Amino acid sequence: MNDLQPLIDNNARWADATVARDPEFFKRLQRQQAPEYLWIGCSDSRVPANEIVGMAPGELFVHRNVANVVPHSDVNCQSVIQFAVDALKIKHIMVVGHYGCAGVQMALEGRRSQGVADYWLGHIRDVASRYKPLLEAEPDARHRASLLVELNVLEQAINVSHSAVVQDAWARGQQLSVHGWVYSLGDGRVRQLGLSAEGPEAVKGLREMALERILEARSRHRATAQTARSGA
Ligand code: ZN
Repeated sequence: MNDLQPLIDNNARWADATVARDPEFFKRLQRQQAPEYLWIGCSDSRVPANEIVGMAPGELFVHRNVANVVPHSDVNCQSVIQFAVDALKIKHIMVVGHYGCAGVQMALEGRRSQGVADYWLGHIRDVASRYKPLLEAEPDARHRASLLVELNVLEQAINVSHSAVVQDAWARGQQLSVHGWVYSLGDGRVRQLGLSAEGPEAVKGLREMALERILEARSRHRATAQTARSGA
């Protein structure tokens, strides 16, 4: 038995239904893709980019890797950014982390896979090390992991903003913004981290401003949870 047959069958049904709804759909897509957004997210199977934001094929350019990391030396991710910005002229880049990210959790706990993934997760261990006092000040292990998810989005969005491709696009006046989002597996909602850069000026002080917003939102959330507990 072909284990993949259900997927092929699903595909045939999807293609038929799409053409039934819109007979020109694939013909149009074949001619051109003109997405306005680049999604840089985690490879986790529970975070399907297009579906979460209700985007059809052709509307979202996507790059995914373990724990949504954007290293300056990663030619894969940097090439995606270059193609998206220079060729497709996308207007927004979203770095999207998610709570409950196994890659972030492993880096936080200092666990090793004893494989090549350890090199990759080193980027997140760097983020954890940069914010060590903040992370250590969070007594609850689950909240500590969520905080590192948010800090990782912040640092990776800053990496995107500092990339040569984005800096060059801003220098020639191209309209382009970089954003940091976190997705919650628990309720399917995306949260904006209050971090958006629309040009080189906005990048100055972005880390401090975004960090302040992240910590403010967390203390608001903690206060609401305490009120709810004491009122119960
Ligand atoms: Zn993940």
